[in-house]
Amino acid sequence: MKDDTKIVVAGRHPEDNFGIVNPPVYHASTVLHRSLSDLRAAQQARSEGERTVVYGRWGTPTSYALEDAVAALEGGYRCLVYPSGLAAIACAMLAFLKAGDHVLVTDNAYGPTHKFCNGILARFGVETTYYDPLINAGIKDLIRDNTRLVYVESPGSLTFEVQDIPAIAEAAHAAGAVVLMDNTWASPLFYKPFAHGVDVSIQAATKYIVGHSDVMLGTVTATREVWPRLEPTTRELGQTAGPDDIYLAQRGLRTLGVRLRQHMTQGLALAEWFRGRPEVERVMHPALPDDPGHALWRRDFLGASGLFGVTLKPCAEDRVAALVDDLELFGMGASWGGYESLVLVTQPNSFRSARPWPHEGPTLRFHAGLEDVDDLIADLEAGFRRFHAAG
Ligand SMILES: *Cc1c(COP(=O)(O)O)cnc(C)c1O
Repeated sequence: MKDDTKIVVAGRHPEDNFGIVNPPVYHASTVLHRSLSDLRAAQQARSEGERTVVYGRWGTPTSYALEDAVAALEGGYRCLVYPSGLAAIACAMLAFLKAGDHVLVTDNAYGPTHKFCNGILARFGVETTYYDPLINAGIKDLIRDNTRLVYVESPGSLTFEVQDIPAIAEAAHAAGAVVLMDNTWASPLFYKPFAHGVDVSIQAATKYIVGHSDVMLGTVTATREVWPRLEPTTRELGQTAGPDDIYLAQRGLRTLGVRLRQHMTQGLALAEWFRGRPEVERVMHPALPDDPGHALWRRDFLGASGLFGVTLKPCAEDRVAALVDDLELFGMGASWGGYESLVLVTQPNSFRSARPWPHEGPTLRFHAGLEDVDDLIADLEAGFRRFHAAG
């Protein structure tokens, strides 16, 4: 089955629900069982991974619908939902680590991932080494006897380097370490982590899966081999998410294909436009043919999302403010993946250590929304006029 078909059918069972197209939203904590033996059987089946309904926190047909759809699209064995993308990252890492372990994390990982490693992981005796995102097969020189986990994010947050994940996975597996990937940028559609050696794929579903800037949610999908590590940790940490949010995520997922293709077209048009601007030093977008990550992106990815970066030539902060403050169509704020365009002035060096970001000029991150691209460009042109007027 092709992805566009899976997006429509995966995780849905209208035949079990009066023919109603979408899955029901079950609000549940207590689930009543008819007898002690029924209860025991349901618990036993659930602990063996069956989709029985035992207790709200353990999963309902609402959560199974989203989890099954995401697992089918990412190409993994099974998936679990979490209350945010960051909760998914934290829980997925904890599932594989204990005191005395060592992890390797790409230097361009999402900022709060660094905070989690430097905070909770360090507090519980796990050491993190950040590595150059472009290290590729060279990662083998950083692997120690106690390295249990290699964390990848490609393209990386804020700076959009593309990693050679098959090469990294090969070195990690040779040393007995698992590979976790933050696959949010590409979504389950444009990168297939399990076909490239990844063991665990994380989505900030808050972004493209939800797609409408109204829900926080995360997912973690795993291979059959590592699933027995992920599931119990998730239960022990009490991870669960609200049914209305899960419902909205599964609804968003049904249109991910058409939305993402449009985000890709819009993002590329904007990236190309920025490349022609005299104020711009560099555009970070792996689908541009002269991007350093382009060859790997072409080899491994099926498309690009609408998120990319721009570095301006060095200039005063008030010029940057003049550019972004009065944009009409680009909102300023965290997150992305909704239908609307966004801009954020970023600081890649606020968390990098292994390979500091070399550009002195300001760095911006743009999310290309679904507005008319000519209107978006006109908005940016007006921004650059204010930029120059600011002196
Ligand atoms: C937003 C984001 C996250 C975290 O997701 P939340 O739902 O905001 O917790 C993780 N990784 C990446 C790459 C993100 O952009």
